[in-house]
Amino acid sequence: MSKGHLFVVSGPSGAGKSTICRLVRKMLNINLATSATTRKPRVGEVDGKDYYFLTIPEFEKRLANGEFLEYAKVHENYYGTLKSEVESRLANGENVILEIDVQGGLQVKEKYPDANMIFFKTPTRKELEERLRGRKTDSEETIQLRLKNSLEELKYEEKYDTSIVNYTVEKSCEELINIIKSKGEMK
Ligand code: 5GP
Repeated sequence: MSKGHLFVVSGPSGAGKSTICRLVRKMLNINLATSATTRKPRVGEVDGKDYYFLTIPEFEKRLANGEFLEYAKVHENYYGTLKSEVESRLANGENVILEIDVQGGLQVKEKYPDANMIFFKTPTRKELEERLRGRKTDSEETIQLRLKNSLEELKYEEKYDTSIVNYTVEKSCEELINIIKSKGEMK
């Protein structure tokens, strides 16, 4: 059986990548892996849907058990992709999107050299800051940390195959859909 395609979407947090990935998941009925994290849930986030929210000992136990395809410490919390979210789907010929940070993205590329690497960013830094403030879910300290980290993340853009600049939700969805569809039939 032919294997499915893996799409890795990374870029500064606040750029809008999770909104776009969720919309594209619905539009194409494609798998979007649910990540595990030790970050506290934001208001409205649901365990098992938005993330698997784990305690640090739970995360570390699963890590020691070799359950993660990749993991990274991002903005002082652990985030990781469980193998169970990816491997059987790919083996079954299904496509999977991973929305993960650049450190995790590079780990995935090592394991899956054919992964399609997509970098996602806002047109300007000012817009990134406005978006981070606009979602009104994070403290000033968290916003500052995320802005600082975004400068680091932007340095990794050149390691990705394609960039999407998030001008509008519609345009970004269309670009991501075109990349996915260009890889062949959807399953
Ligand atoms: P947030 O806390 O805003 O949901 O996510 C913060 C950052 O963690 C984002 O850049 C997001 O892409 C990244 N992230 C989410 N899930 C994973 C994951 O499973 N692995 C890695 N390496 N990063 C992740």
